[in-house]
Amino acid sequence: MRPSGKLHLGNYTGALENWIKRQNEYDSFHFVADWHSLTTNYEAADQVWPDTIDMVIDWLAAGIDPEKSVIFVQSHIKEHAELHLLFSMLVTVPRLERNPTVKEQIKELHLEGKVSYGHLGYPILQSADILMYRAHAVPVGDDQVPHVELTREIARRFNHTYRKVFPVPEALLTKYSRLPGLDGAKMSKSLGNTILLSDTPEDIQKKVRSAITDPAKIRMGDPGHPEICTIFTYHTKFNPIEVPVIERDCRSGTLGCVNCKNNLATKLSTFLEPIREKRKEIENNKNMVEEVIRAGNDKARTEAKITMEQVRESMKIGILGEMS
Ligand code: AMP
Repeated sequence: MRPSGKLHLGNYTGALENWIKRQNEYDSFHFVADWHSLTTNYEAADQVWPDTIDMVIDWLAAGIDPEKSVIFVQSHIKEHAELHLLFSMLVTVPRLERNPTVKEQIKELHLEGKVSYGHLGYPILQSADILMYRAHAVPVGDDQVPHVELTREIARRFNHTYRKVFPVPEALLTKYSRLPGLDGAKMSKSLGNTILLSDTPEDIQKKVRSAITDPAKIRMGDPGHPEICTIFTYHTKFNPIEVPVIERDCRSGTLGCVNCKNNLATKLSTFLEPIREKRKEIENNKNMVEEVIRAGNDKARTEAKITMEQVRESMKIGILGEMS
């Protein structure tokens, strides 16, 4: 994840929740993608470290256990830059220009004709980030699937051109891999339509009240269409027990949007309360967070060195002396 402020519910349902669940089954590596945040925010490089700490606090508060998962910072493992450079020879510029996620970003940020080399190529850096740990699975939201696809292509091309070093990894998606925001568009920091994991019950109440629902349901008695309502989607995720009743009463018109929203705000606040409490506790112990990162960096670096030795040997470049 890029360090660009506090995490929202989309980050949670699409990625973080999956990381927490799967840390018992997999050897997990999770990193702060700080070089990636420079693609759109290179002028604010000095904000990267405070944002890094803020994001790792969210991870820990939500349940990532540093005893089970390696937590590290991308820019602290310089091997990522070397692998990125080597991979960048294996990908054409038109292939990068076809990437739908990058295209969407270019459009959203009005970067047509002036996208930087680093921005266009960041999916290659992401491939290096993934393959550095010889990953088999990548738990991400659906906007990241094109990047995992590129990673698979690079792994195959590398293995075929040189010698087999990399597994061909798969994306691990959740049921909520594209959670809508309060306005119905994809929940996204840049669109200002988020509910944050750290929001207070008052923030949540205010935000949920402002959410767009079914436009055909204006008065309480009007029948609603839950399948197009963001609030209903949130109920299915955060209040599943009441979903059959909410669906029935929304469709029949007996449940109004105000009551439905108030109910959701209460459920969300209850759901987020332990995360908020844990966050407060960790915020008072930032040394511990730095310690977690330092220990994670060491573990990540050990793996990265092993991979890069295999890469250099397989390419026969970057090493002196006897080569196998
Ligand atoms: P980012 O902040 O863009 O680096 O995203 C971090 C992770 O959250 C990535 O795996 C994204 O795919 C995921 N993500 C971001 N927004 C959403 C969303 N609205 N729904 C589901 N997953 C998301």
